[in-house]
Amino acid sequence: MTVLESVSAAEGGVLIVGATGFIGQFIAEASLHADRPTYLLVRSVGSKTIKTLQDKGAKVIHGVIKDQEFMEKILKEHKIDIVISAIGGANILDQLTLVHAIKAVGTIKRFLPSEFGHDVDRADPVEPGLTMYNEKRRVRRLIEECGVPYTYICCNSIASWPYYDNTHPSEVIPPLDEFQIYGDGNVKAYFVAGSDIGKFTIKTVDDIRTLNKSVHFRPSCNFLNINELASLWEKKIGRTLPRVTVSENDLLAAAAANIIPQSIVASFTHDIFIKGCQVNFSIEGPNEVEACSLYPDESFRTVDECFDDFVVKMNGKNFTGEADGITAQNHVVEVLSITMCA
Ligand code: NDP
Repeated sequence: MTVLESVSAAEGGVLIVGATGFIGQFIAEASLHADRPTYLLVRSVGSKTIKTLQDKGAKVIHGVIKDQEFMEKILKEHKIDIVISAIGGANILDQLTLVHAIKAVGTIKRFLPSEFGHDVDRADPVEPGLTMYNEKRRVRRLIEECGVPYTYICCNSIASWPYYDNTHPSEVIPPLDEFQIYGDGNVKAYFVAGSDIGKFTIKTVDDIRTLNKSVHFRPSCNFLNINELASLWEKKIGRTLPRVTVSENDLLAAAAANIIPQSIVASFTHDIFIKGCQVNFSIEGPNEVEACSLYPDESFRTVDECFDDFVVKMNGKNFTGEADGITAQNHVVEVLSITMCA
């Protein structure tokens, strides 16, 4: 740990909103792993995920962020220092009230709004993705106007096969029948394991170097295009699969169909794999930093390792079934012999 990094782990409470969600679970796990006093704001009851997190030491607060008075009360009562929101794309604007509550309380040292993707001030997806980005931009502007200390996490793509119609692609096994290759398949992107999204997010929360900055996750080991991703998966399953092209127009048509949330994913897929939104800029502004540079001693899990996890999960279950939330999207019924070549 460098002198610039804070050593205040286990001091102030971390409040996580959206811990039942896809990204929120990774963040809650990482917060607990880092021995932070971890509070979860939960609006639904009876979640298995929440029970698991409680068993690991998380404290649950029932409520919703849209109730400003309630939010001010719990932020004070539980001496919360850090607020991390991982609420889903449909509820981005619910955070406006939360920002007002954080401002009113005045003691929150860092707020991380629900970002966890691209730099929304730079990326320019077609609709309906653009609407979500406009909402995320609106939350950013309110945070800045209110003088709330912030960090924006731009972690790029989750390590998995980037299905263009699935909001949570790492819950799905990569293709077993054919690859759908976007465009010429040569545009690169950064892939980050869910556990690393959690781990590095938590590292930023009391790091002075990330105060009022966007943190970009660009692990060079996971800088791959979709052709390379396909070849890597083929090595894991020990056979080659046919590749079909999904053209730019196909992706634009899927976006224009405006089926929510699939069309939102299609618009992001177009932005990433056709327009190159993750790679068409360099990180050099005064308000942006890169995670590998900040934490050179910390490694990222590789896509290769993440693909091994899928193989292990496939071996644990028939491909047509579910294993730990992992499903086979392509409905392959034959049982394949798997070659491990990590
Ligand atoms: P999910 O839809 O999986 O989960 C959303 C969570 O927010 C749930 O826990 C939900 O609670 C909670 N929530 C929603 N509204 C409220 C509210 N008003 N008060 C309290 N809790 C609320 O979200 P995702 O994990 O998919 O998305 C989180 C962020 O990550 C988004 O910004 C999204 O764009 C981004 N993302 C990035 C990905 C990537 O590859 N980089 C992939 C997927 C998402 P409940 O359980 O009660 O519904």
